[in-house]
Amino acid sequence: MRVLGAIEAGGTKFVCGIGNEEGEIFERVSFPTTTPEETMAQVIAYFEDKKFDALGVGSFGPIDPIKNSPTYGHITTTPKPFWGGYDMIGKLKEHFDVPMNFDTDVNGAALGEYTWGAAKGLDSCIYITVGTGIGAGAVVGGQLVHGLSHPEMGHISVRRHPNDTFEGFCPFHADCLEGMAAGPAILKRWGKAGAELAADHPAWEMEAYYLAQALVNYVLILSPQKIIMGGGVMKQEQLFPEIRRQLKTLLGGYVQHPSITEHIDQYVVYPELGDNAGICGSLALAKLALEEL
Ligand code: ADP
Ligand code: ZN
Repeated sequence: MRVLGAIEAGGTKFVCGIGNEEGEIFERVSFPTTTPEETMAQVIAYFEDKKFDALGVGSFGPIDPIKNSPTYGHITTTPKPFWGGYDMIGKLKEHFDVPMNFDTDVNGAALGEYTWGAAKGLDSCIYITVGTGIGAGAVVGGQLVHGLSHPEMGHISVRRHPNDTFEGFCPFHADCLEGMAAGPAILKRWGKAGAELAADHPAWEMEAYYLAQALVNYVLILSPQKIIMGGGVMKQEQLFPEIRRQLKTLLGGYVQHPSITEHIDQYVVYPELGDNAGICGSLALAKLALEEL
């Protein structure tokens, strides 16, 4: 059995781990995300005395995941201080001579759920994280979705909830999906973090309204066989039935598939890999690097 290295590069922390092709994680550590020099020195020190056959990196973005691009492996235009233009794969290649795969954290998580989790045995899925930001990745026809670069499904336009006067906090678009529905939007709109709001607070019906709109668009554009919703905000379990209900309402009966009309409880789900969805996603990227050899 081959050994895989995984790096979940997040805006707050980097999680590094070692696992296998079955999606098992043997050990993990985490380091705060500070400057590239400081954080990557810790990452490199962690892997330096380990033996592994491939390395997968799922990263915050925007990034360049396109293999033949001159800036492949770089974090590109992130507003995060110090990290814009950073050549992450270049740095790792200086230290480790193994096949590597670099993608967004959410494309990784989609691949992890497709390989070992909620979308196992299917051809397609969407993974959306609702946390400090909103991002989504997709597997279609068994392949991760890339194009010019990677999808940016967290920044789509949404219709405003009739009772919502919050201006939105996305620095690029103000009231896009992320600007209206990520964790910080909940905090700014209601003056309390999501974890402190009661399950019957009106925040959740509004939150579900925005997230259901996103899912409508994903269903109409990509026709995924499963939609997996993770991230801190989705710990609010009461969101799931409300999102499913609003998704059905907004679709208006137009997509007549039993997955939606009869089995929506199994169509829009929490990650089967739970809190491991991120690191297992990077592990799945490492597995893919071996398969692509
Ligand atoms: P990140 O997106 O930074 O990787 P998380 O997915 O944990 O990390 O998302 C953090 C965001 O999720 C914060 O805005 C926080 O307020 C929100 N959050 C975390 N836990 C909960 C919870 N139990 N209920 C509602 N919101 C939560
Ligand atoms: Zn935006």
